[in-house]
Amino acid sequence: MLHTISAFDRLGEENAFAVLARATALALQGRDIVNLGIGQPDFKTPQHIVEAAIKALRDGHHGYTPANGLLATREAVVRRTLTTTGVEVSPEAVMILPGGKPTMFAAILMFGEPGAEILYPDPGFPIYRSMIEFTGAEPVPVPMREENGFAFSAQETLALITPKTRLLILNSPANPTGGVTPRAEIEKLVKGLEAHPDVAILSDEIYDVMTYDGETHCSLLNFPEIRDRLIVLNGWSKTWAMTGWRMGWSIWPNGDKGAHLYDKVRKLAVNCWSCVNAPSQYAGIAAIDGPQDAVNEMMRAFDRRRKVVVEGLNALPGVSCITPKGAFYAFPNVSKTGWKAKKLASALLEDAGVALIGGPDFGILGEGYIRLSYANSEENILRALQRIEAFLGK
Ligand code: PLP
Repeated sequence: MLHTISAFDRLGEENAFAVLARATALALQGRDIVNLGIGQPDFKTPQHIVEAAIKALRDGHHGYTPANGLLATREAVVRRTLTTTGVEVSPEAVMILPGGKPTMFAAILMFGEPGAEILYPDPGFPIYRSMIEFTGAEPVPVPMREENGFAFSAQETLALITPKTRLLILNSPANPTGGVTPRAEIEKLVKGLEAHPDVAILSDEIYDVMTYDGETHCSLLNFPEIRDRLIVLNGWSKTWAMTGWRMGWSIWPNGDKGAHLYDKVRKLAVNCWSCVNAPSQYAGIAAIDGPQDAVNEMMRAFDRRRKVVVEGLNALPGVSCITPKGAFYAFPNVSKTGWKAKKLASALLEDAGVALIGGPDFGILGEGYIRLSYANSEENILRALQRIEAFLGK
C-alpha cells in the first residue's frame, strides 16, 4: 500500500453526501424516498443568473481570471456587503473562491497545527472539525445548547479560550440547528475577545439572509474593533440556490495584524484551483445586482414549510422541536423516542423511506437529535412526517 501522510486519515466526512448517495440508490431500486437530508435549496437558480452565465460563455469568457476573482465580481460583493451589513469593505479584502468550503479550508489551514487549539460550534457543520483534525490542531467544541436556542453563549465560548487558542469559528444562522445568535450575545462575545487579541475569528455567515420571525442576522463585520483579525465566509450557494456552481466569497482582515492573510489565501488559490470559472463569476454579479424576487419567494416558502415541519414534529410521540430562527433546518430532540439518533435516521431511511441526518454527524452534542432540511415541498414534508409518525407508532 502506498504511504500517505497521516493527516489524510484524520479527514472526516459530511454524512449528508453519504445519505444522499444511499437515498439515490434506494430510489433507483424503485423505492419512493422523501429526501430531507441534503442542505440545498430545492429551487432552481433564478433564470436571469443562468442567462448571465450563458452570455459570459457566448462573449468568450473562457479563460483564467485573476486568482482572487474578477474585480467586477469582488466589487459586486462589496455592494452586497454594504446592503446587508451597512459596512463598506475594500474589494482588495474580498476573495472569490469555489464555494464556501474553501474559505473554511484556507482559514483553518492558516491557523491549525499541532499544539494549537481551534474552537468550533458543536453541533455544527462537520467540516470544521474535520479540517481542524487534518491540521493536527486540537478541536475544542463550543456547545450549542437547545435551551439556549442553539445559539452561541458568549460566556461559555470565552471560558474555553486558552493561551493556545488560535482561531474561533462562529456560525449564525447555523447549520444543523437553525440557531441564530442574538446581537446582544455577539456584542458580549466581541467585548470579551478584547482580552484575547491574538485569537483570529472565522465567521461563517453563509445563511445571513435566511432568518425568520423578524429575527435579523448580526454580521461580525459590524465590529470594527475585530476587523483586523476577522475572516467572513459567505457565498452564493444557499441564497441564490447555486450550490452546484461552486461560488463563494470571503472577506479578509485589514490592518497591521491581519492584512497579510489575504496574500496567503490568494497564493493558496494559485496553487490549488487557479481561479473560479469566469461564467460563474459573471453569474455571481447578476445574482447580487439583479432582482431579488426569487430569493424573497424562496424565503417565504421556507418560512411556510418551517411552520409545517415544526408543528408536525412536535405532534410526534417522544419528539420535541424548538422553532428554528434561521437557515432551512429543523433539529428536533428525539431522545425520548427510545432510539439512538443515528440508528433512528438510518431506520427511517431504510424502513420508512425518509432521508434525514442523525445529530451525531454534527458533533458530540448532536446525540439525541436529528436534522431535517425543509428545502423540500410542503407536500413532501407532510408525507415525511406521516411516515415518521407511522414508523414511531409501530
Ligand atoms: N457553511 C455552512 C454552515 C454550510 O452549511 C455549508 C453548506 O452546507 C457551507 C458552509 C458550504 O457551502 P458551499 O456549498 O458553498 O461550499
